[in-house]
Amino acid sequence: MAWFEENRRDLPWRATTDPYAILVSEVMLQQTQVARVIPVFTAWVERWPTVEALARAPRAAVIKAWQGLGYNRRAVNLHRAAEHVVRYGWPDDLTALPGVGRYTADAVARFAHGAAVLPIDVNVRRIQERTGSHFSHRAASALMDLGSTVCLARVPRCEACPLSPACPSRGRRFDPARKQSPFEGSFRQRRSRALRVVADSPRRVDLLDDDEAVHALERDGLVVVEEGIARLPS
Ligand code: SF4
Repeated sequence: MAWFEENRRDLPWRATTDPYAILVSEVMLQQTQVARVIPVFTAWVERWPTVEALARAPRAAVIKAWQGLGYNRRAVNLHRAAEHVVRYGWPDDLTALPGVGRYTADAVARFAHGAAVLPIDVNVRRIQERTGSHFSHRAASALMDLGSTVCLARVPRCEACPLSPACPSRGRRFDPARKQSPFEGSFRQRRSRALRVVADSPRRVDLLDDDEAVHALERDGLVVVEEGIARLPS
């Protein structure tokens, strides 16, 4: 915790305990790097400062605002989650909301409500495994920062680590984690390209020249297709 006092990252979602803002940040962070999330998160909570404001927003605007973060299905799920909260209130277990898994629910519980639960993301899990230690929920943010900046996946910076005196993995190197398949040439890239075009303006599906991608987007609620025209949902 002393290390954290000196090294903590100044992240915008750490300046709030609003469960809505924390949920937005955690969903964005699920598959996107912190540096890319910061500007989108900041603009998002300015534009839609409450869960009610987000629930009222047209889905097309929500999908457009998500551009640049990737894995666009998360935008639709977040919008649906906001609609659910406005209609039924916050559920006791947030995993009842679309797109919210155990980690995200625990993170909101910890950072918004101060619950005594340690959200276990990939960084926290790595430190637990390498040190063989259990950590207090109070160390949640410290572990996340330590895992992001010091106890790195492949070549940890043990010389800068406050846990090194008692860490059995000190000085080890690790094989690269399973590589994410390349974006270039992937189906994900084709979906993303088709969504960008449709977000610009409605298009005829035959002119988009990628039925498979358009229909995948349609299944995920990211576009609607009517009379051969693909557009964002309203
Ligand atoms: S000593 Fe090295 S391996 Fe152990 S927790 Fe610190 S950075 Fe990770």
